[in-house]
Amino acid sequence: MRRKDRQITDDNVIDEIILQCDVCRLGFVSDGMAYILPLNFGFENKDGRRIFYFHSATEGKKISLIKSAPPVSFEMDTDHLLNSADVACGFSYRFKSVMGTGRITVLEEADKPYALDRIMEHYRGEKSWNYSEEALKSVCVYKLEVDFLSCKAHK
Ligand SMILES: Cc1cc2nc3c(=O)[nH]c(=O)nc-3n(C[C@H](O)[C@H](O)[C@H](O)COP(=O)(O)OP(=O)(O)OC[C@H]3O[C@@H](n4cnc5c(N)ncnc54)[C@H](O)[C@@H]3O)c2cc1C
Repeated sequence: MRRKDRQITDDNVIDEIILQCDVCRLGFVSDGMAYILPLNFGFENKDGRRIFYFHSATEGKKISLIKSAPPVSFEMDTDHLLNSADVACGFSYRFKSVMGTGRITVLEEADKPYALDRIMEHYRGEKSWNYSEEALKSVCVYKLEVDFLSCKAHK
């Protein structure tokens, strides 16, 4: 990272920033082009291994891409604020952001409730929810295991 003064390396701080984010953008390669998609997500840090969870309909472009367990990029950001100034070039923008790469895989039926709980926990705080069999069948759930991650904050 060119601006070392903005780089965040403390794992606890990075996880706090992730937990503050609302949306994760996934980047795929599709027919030689970038395909970037915003998604809601769940998160956990399992003994230093970061995992993101997602859910969606069982069909569509992203599901076709995910089925081959591709390497993906991701990005999320939070804490947006405009720093004003008297002249245009004095303005700046505050942010905290996380980006990286990993591999995405579709979860088996039995693993869906745990992953959906992580998504619900991210947005609602409660850790455990009930899901009907019908609801579980109608949803595709997948996880992104992070291989590389960097974090940056502009205050
Ligand atoms: C803040 C936010 C959170 C979201 N959270 C979720 C989530 O948790 N789960 C989920 O399934 N979806 C979520 N979505 C919608 C998601 O971004 C996709 O639209 C959806 O998942 C369908 O993706 P797909 O690849 O199957 O698209 P398809 O339905 O197969 O359509 C493919 C084409 O539609 C267009 N397209 C697809 N998505 C978008 C988009 N978001 N905006 C504009 N054009 C688009 C593109 O041109 C693309 O080539 C969220 C969207 C936003 C903005």
